[in-house]
Amino acid sequence: MSSEILDLKIINARLRKGKKGEVFSIGVRGGKIDSIEPELSTSPSQTSAAAGEVSRVHGKQALKTLDAAGGLVTESFVNGHLHLCKVYTMELAGQNAYSEYHKGGMGGAMTAIERAADFKGAYDKDWILPNVRRACDLALHYGNTHIRAFADVDSKARLEGIKALLEARSEYSGRVDLQIVAFPQDGIIRESKAAGYVDEALRLGADAVGGIPWIEYTKEDEQLHVDEMFALAKKYGKDVSMLLDDVGDPGERTLEMCILKTIEYGWHGRVTAQHCRAMALYEENYFRKIAALMRKANIGLVADPHTGPLHARVRDLAAAGVNVALGQDDIADAYYPYGRNNMLEVAFLASHLMWMTSLQDMELLYDMITAMAAQVLGMRGHVLEPGGNADLVVLKAEDIYHAIWEHEAPIYVIRNGAVVKPV
Ligand SMILES: [Zn+2]
Repeated sequence: MSSEILDLKIINARLRKGKKGEVFSIGVRGGKIDSIEPELSTSPSQTSAAAGEVSRVHGKQALKTLDAAGGLVTESFVNGHLHLCKVYTMELAGQNAYSEYHKGGMGGAMTAIERAADFKGAYDKDWILPNVRRACDLALHYGNTHIRAFADVDSKARLEGIKALLEARSEYSGRVDLQIVAFPQDGIIRESKAAGYVDEALRLGADAVGGIPWIEYTKEDEQLHVDEMFALAKKYGKDVSMLLDDVGDPGERTLEMCILKTIEYGWHGRVTAQHCRAMALYEENYFRKIAALMRKANIGLVADPHTGPLHARVRDLAAAGVNVALGQDDIADAYYPYGRNNMLEVAFLASHLMWMTSLQDMELLYDMITAMAAQVLGMRGHVLEPGGNADLVVLKAEDIYHAIWEHEAPIYVIRNGAVVKPV
């Protein structure tokens, strides 16, 4: 046993893979998980009373001790997709997009995006930033420590959304990690100035290149869109997060274009496929080929089943060895009226919408908002094991089933070994 002092110790913690009634002590030092050891007593109340004794038994004293009181402790939550520049803009954007987006099996998605774009001329960092802060505060409250955050960049939105997100990224550094995507929502062939704005956003410090090739009018333009965005990714050495085949049309092939480009560029493990709702309409043979290619290119998928009526086939993809994740997608904007940045709530909704209601399904859903989601986003070490990052949540619930059922906020949120909730 080492006599070194831990920064933090969490006692009476239940773990996903622990036996019924078994509780553990988790040691944290230098922002990493130092040790995970079973506690001698199987009764949380007994070990709680004997916390000092537990410290002696394991030979490691800690500067701070948290009592999980028999609650589940897991990796903190990862939100694979959020349009963070648009949060709380529902009133400004109006109701025009809602009905179009969901109408005709999502055949009207393009029109919805056009209608939702009308108000973007009013974009101003000064009012966007307070909205972003409100969403980031909720993220902290709900243990959502990593967000792949999209900001629109085009001739209407200009760089106002990106600037707000860049400011929030430094403000919340060490608490909520914002991975900012420069996103040309209205296309780059249809909107000829948009690619220039993406370039500028990357120069300013955006973390990833966005894209939405299916919005272009022809297959040639879709391919050009993919090519141009990958060229920018190469120029700046950035990852790629594209919205692909996100429309009720089984003939869309932009996911395939993106996969092939990833392989051509050797960008394996650096690309995420977002939404991909048309996958629900693909022929079975084509779906199986796409799943095999995604695995080959190490492309993960982020689904947001609560914000549209078609859902990417996450269970089948996971069975085929493709990493999958969930995203909040929207919070009170032109596309979706709700959202609290609560990934357990997103998993709860996904459980209903995709009929993932067995205990085994719930385990997959939980992976999709924690460790597997981190893999989709190319994050390293987001796993609760010795040597892993000390980014954790302590829940009131004792197991995954109740965590999703109740979808309550965590009691404690730990980021980089420090308690960030409560402060
Ligand atoms: Zn989206």
